[in-house]
Order: sequence, then C-alpha cells, then structure tokens
Amino acid sequence: MAKQLDAILQQAQQQEPISREQGEWLLTQTDTVAKEAIKETADQLRQKQVGETVTYVINRNINFTNICEQHCSFCAFRRDAESEGAYWLNWEEILDKTADAVQRGATEICMQGGLNPQAKINGSTLAYYQQLVTTIKAAFPDIHLHGFSPQEIQFIAREDEISYETVIGELKAVGVGSMPGTAAEILDDRARKIICPEKINTQTWLDIISTAHRVGMPTTSTMLSGHIETPAQQIHHFQQLRSLQEKAIQNNYPAGITEFILLPFVGEDAPQPLRQRVGRDQPVLEDALLLTAVARIYLGNWITNHQPSWVKLGLAGAKEALKWGCNDIGGTLMEEHITTMAGAKGGTGMAVSDLQNAIRQMGRPYQQRNTIYEPIVQNANTLEKV
Ligand code: SF4
Repeated sequence: MAKQLDAILQQAQQQEPISREQGEWLLTQTDTVAKEAIKETADQLRQKQVGETVTYVINRNINFTNICEQHCSFCAFRRDAESEGAYWLNWEEILDKTADAVQRGATEICMQGGLNPQAKINGSTLAYYQQLVTTIKAAFPDIHLHGFSPQEIQFIAREDEISYETVIGELKAVGVGSMPGTAAEILDDRARKIICPEKINTQTWLDIISTAHRVGMPTTSTMLSGHIETPAQQIHHFQQLRSLQEKAIQNNYPAGITEFILLPFVGEDAPQPLRQRVGRDQPVLEDALLLTAVARIYLGNWITNHQPSWVKLGLAGAKEALKWGCNDIGGTLMEEHITTMAGAKGGTGMAVSDLQNAIRQMGRPYQQRNTIYEPIVQNANTLEKV
C-alpha cells in the first residue's frame, strides 16, 4: 500500500495528472499516515502553484428572494410564495444592502436567489434579472457583480424561451462580471435524482458553464460533498471540472474557471428525508479535509485556486483546510443566509480583521483580491468599517 501511495503522490508532485482510479484510491484511505502524506503533497502543490499568500475577498451576498419553484432535498432556504418567512427584496432594499457593502469596502456583490416564476418585468424574466443588475451598476458602477447560478440561467432561458448564450450575453452586457459555479452539487445524475431532482442535469450544468466561458464570462466551480455521494462520484465530478477547464484552454475561450470551492453538506435544519438518510447534522471535518487535499491533487494545474467554506466548517475548520491545499479563505459575505438556515455554525459574516488574523496566526501572508483573483491594494480606512 505504501508503495502505491508513494507512486501516486510522486506522480502528483511531478505535476502529472493522476487517473480516476488513483484519485478514488486516495479518497478511500483511512490510515493516518497515508492521510498525512496526502495532506503534505496537496500543501506542497499549493506552494508550487500559487505560493504562500492566502487571499480573501471583501464581498456581500444578496439573496434577493427565497421564493423558489424547486424543492432540493438539502435546501432549508426555499419557501413557497405564500409561506411564512417568504421574502422578495425590492429595489430599494437591494440598493441599501449594496450601499452598506460598498461603504464597508466590498468589491463584490454575490447575487443569487430562488427561482421565482413571478419575477418578471413586462412578462420577461430576463428583463427582471437585467433590472437586478442595472439597479446596482447604475449606482455603483465599480462593484463587481458575481451573479446567477447555471440553474438560474436555465430558469431565465426556459421562461423566456431563449438560449443560454443569449441569457449570459445579455446579463454580461448589463454588467454581470462573473458567474458562481453553484448548482453543481454532485455532477452525477443518479445522485442528483435524489438530492435535487428538479434541478438541471449534469450535462446542462456543463453546457451552461462552458457557454459562459465561450462568451467571456468567468465562473467558479463548486461541489456539495458529504451527503449520499460516493468517492467514485466525487472523482467523476472533479474529472468533469478538469475537462471543462481543458476545453476552455484548448479552444482559447476568453474565460474559464477561477477557483474550486468545496461545500460540505450541513443537515441540521435541512429537510428531514435527506437529513435522516445522511444521519448527521454537521460536516465531518476529517472527510472534508481529505477531499480538499485530493481536489488540489486531482485538479492540478487546471484549477489552482482552492477555497474552503468557513460558513460550513467554521473559521477553525477553514484555517485547517489551508494546510490541506487551500490558498484562499473566501469572502466576508456580510449576510450569509442559505447555509445558515440549514443549521451551519460558521456565522453569517466575517470581519476582514478576523480573516486576516486567522491567516496571520498560521504564519502566512495575506492579500485582498478581487473576484477574479487579481490583488487589490488595501485601503486602511475601509478595514476598520468592515
Ligand atoms: S437549492 Fe436553490 S433551486 Fe434548490 S430549492 Fe433551494 S433555492 Fe431552490
């Protein structure tokens, strides 16, 4: 076994892609010595690929509505329009939240919401989403709008009977700067039938992300882990991300995947059936860390920025992930709802100083970045406000 482990890790160290079988084998290691060796390799690859600096972004989540036509098994955020707790922000509320974020130094608004069939202007869903963007960009032209999952893109396209390319192109034209690679969950249709049966299937997710890259819209990539998925499905997911990035590079697309974010499942307040099936409320840190390390090794030079979720793992867990291959600690978020409503304990927002202190305690330098990983010169005045 030690021989097999050494061979795979040596191959990874030489930055040669590892195979699906090798990746799956790494994920099934339970021995502490083996896991330490995997961690060490992921950390060394992180050093080689992106160096010692840990980055962060000052951003705010705006989830403009929780009214959603779908019923994902892991989602505690959605509501029917007439249910208690349903909300739909108006333009003024959206502007107030953006103004507050800008005042606190934010460079990014991350905008996502439920799939609300009532969200239309003059009968057009695209017009409503465009208005979401222009409302913000007209008042705050410098803010980067990171918005709308592939599921939302498909929803707009379906409602207005237009192509994904048209939706993404039109949103880009009014000021969307990048797209979150959320709604990926696990890119395996057998698992999706159980955890998100109404969501777009794997191929549609891949098609929409690839279309975004082709029209010059950068995206992130994510994985929802630690529910019903198997190691083989996890590696299959990584393989599809790797192929997407390869496709963007080979075809000379103007954009690609900027980062990979692991999102471990939080079940505490999630709908009962999936919660019971998974059988635990909070993520298992040990499993998330091994997967973090294997993500760094498997995604290799295709995707070099890796971010843990402090919302799901807590800041201490996210710090630990920085030793298992991650190089970014994420964003301030200011107002996280979706996972917090599922019972996550990490908090709803993080002060810049908390993120910086966490990184400093590890003896690593930190750097504020923008959404697409370009460094930002910090403004000392804004830091006090966040
Ligand atoms: S995860 Fe998104 S699409 Fe699924 S039910 Fe929740 S809000 Fe709706």
